[in-house]
Amino acid sequence: MPRYDFRCRSCGATFELSRPMAQANDPAVCPEGHPDTVKLLSTVAVTGASGAAAPAPSGGGGGCCGGGCCG
Ligand SMILES: [Zn+2]
Repeated sequence: MPRYDFRCRSCGATFELSRPMAQANDPAVCPEGHPDTVKLLSTVAVTGASGAAAPAPSGGGGGCCGGGCCG
């Protein structure tokens, strides 16, 4: 069962809950009883450290149309 991190916006506490994925977006209650919590993104969703370059270079600086073969 996946675990989800939550943070309470009332007292600032962070806590984990184990719950089925079907209930991942259900509201969670802070251990202190505050209902105003937000779900934090889990670290398992982070993939790739620094290789997130854009697939197409903006400006078209490199390749065919920059070398004159297109015109
Ligand atoms: Zn709280």
